Amino acid sequence: MSYVVLARKYRPMFFDDVVGQQHVTKTLQNAIEQNRIANAYLFSGPRGVGKTTVARLLAKALNCEHGPTTKPCNKCSSCIEINESRSLDVFEIDGASNRGIDEIRNLRESLRYSPNPGKHRIYIIDEVHMLTNEAFNALLKTLEEPPTNVLFIFATTEAHKVPTTILSRCQRFDFKRMSNKSIADQLRELAVKEKIEIDEESLRLIANKADGSMRDGESILDQVIAFAGTKIDSAQVADLLGIIDQELFFQVSNLIKKGDVHGGVDLANMIFTEGYNFNEFLIGLAEHFRNILVAKATHSARELDVSEEHGKRYFSQADDFQVEDLLRLIKIAADAENLIRRSSNGRLHLEVALVKMIKLTKSVQLSQLLNNIEDIKKKSEQQALVNHPPIVNNASHTPYIGMATSSASSGIADSNGARADSLSPFSKRLETLKKQPPVHEAETEQEPVTIEFSEIESRWKEIVEYVKKKKIALGSFLSEGWPTQLEGKTLVVTFGAQNGFHINSIERSQKVIEKLIAEILNVKLILRCVKDEQGVLDKVRKIPARVDKKTQFSQLLEENSIVKKIVETFDAELID
Ligand SMILES: [Zn+2]
Repeated sequence: MSYVVLARKYRPMFFDDVVGQQHVTKTLQNAIEQNRIANAYLFSGPRGVGKTTVARLLAKALNCEHGPTTKPCNKCSSCIEINESRSLDVFEIDGASNRGIDEIRNLRESLRYSPNPGKHRIYIIDEVHMLTNEAFNALLKTLEEPPTNVLFIFATTEAHKVPTTILSRCQRFDFKRMSNKSIADQLRELAVKEKIEIDEESLRLIANKADGSMRDGESILDQVIAFAGTKIDSAQVADLLGIIDQELFFQVSNLIKKGDVHGGVDLANMIFTEGYNFNEFLIGLAEHFRNILVAKATHSARELDVSEEHGKRYFSQADDFQVEDLLRLIKIAADAENLIRRSSNGRLHLEVALVKMIKLTKSVQLSQLLNNIEDIKKKSEQQALVNHPPIVNNASHTPYIGMATSSASSGIADSNGARADSLSPFSKRLETLKKQPPVHEAETEQEPVTIEFSEIESRWKEIVEYVKKKKIALGSFLSEGWPTQLEGKTLVVTFGAQNGFHINSIERSQKVIEKLIAEILNVKLILRCVKDEQGVLDKVRKIPARVDKKTQFSQLLEENSIVKKIVETFDAELID
């Protein structure tokens, strides 16, 4: 006798045998009892969860000689014919291979002949989303004026691809992806019926691999039986399915905990020599960190689809990692997996990913970091107060404290910085004003220049960013230049010798830029662009023309004592 695959041998014969879809089977049974069967149903859901099985059960329930009944007898000629797929009243059509208008025309033609007396004509169209538009239109006409005793059951894994005009004429049932536990439970029952000895870990591995599909679970069990016979253990299952031993993932956790880079390289080597699939390893590793994350976040084993023993280990590892670390680890694994897909040197990417994970320094909570910044700031402010007691500006009678505050341009002042450095741009400008000789009334038609070159220089980046925000192209051109001189109201901006094009562009829109600079500096300046003929630009320029994040970061590190302290205190690094 030929071997019948498990999925077929144990196909549910009654609604109550269908696992995990009670919300569908209950409703259909009620509809049968109340004689309220619709003309068209749409069964949507992942593959292998029982859509066509339920469609056939419904067909049997309606056409059983003792029906319509919620418990088809499976003994009458109608039930047997349907079970054997040879009923003249029930048509199973594969939408993927019969997707054209002609097939639907044939279908409509067949509607002209009524079903056998007392029976329903039932069309089960699987993968209905594959039909062409013309086919859908033809189908729609039938659905708009459904003949009596005709029932359509559409099954699809992609309901979103079915036109809404069709959807609106169907009663829709969404089949659920099966949980690993219900797949494992079902497989355990099958194993008992088949007199197969199988351990719990094997059932878990198979259910996990089946990924929500009972049919896949059953066919994997078929394979395992063919491979291992009637006595199955988890090592055989893992071997057959190429499943990577969970132990390896826990090993990675430990390497990270110990910071053992050497061990990481060894592990990558082992994965290579054992012939494991790198992608599967990284996907499994991401899953592993995800499990720790779930253990950490939920404090409940229910969300973890793992064996009890592993569950305990995840919980114990949860304390070793912070949520941010786990998110970063998952990202590293996912990124590497992505890279390996597109690269011929998978081993290198795997190695780099493992070393990256192991070298990953622990994330610092942002709140903790901010508190720390506050502390440092307070200290430096106190320091500044001691060094420079408050002075009162007599001229304006406005009390003014020359204290280190977080001004926009200079960031947070250095704790031991000179007083001039700790002044805000506003106070600097005030000082400049005071230094200038008194001007006659007549001359004040033109307002005096109330800004110092050093301020323009220190705020140059801010100015460029502002222009960029308003006029992106002009801002980019301007960023190539650097302010080199302020003569009266004329601001000289020097450009590289090769930047002739930039100068021309800026000069064409000079008025616009001058207006924008006036908006940000509150001073009207005249812009003069010059070419750097002597090659001094690189010496005076304090910020490179185009800054990438890394240079920006190292610059910040140099200029800002607080950032420097943070980096030193926490051994921080720049993460993209
Ligand atoms: Zn029957």
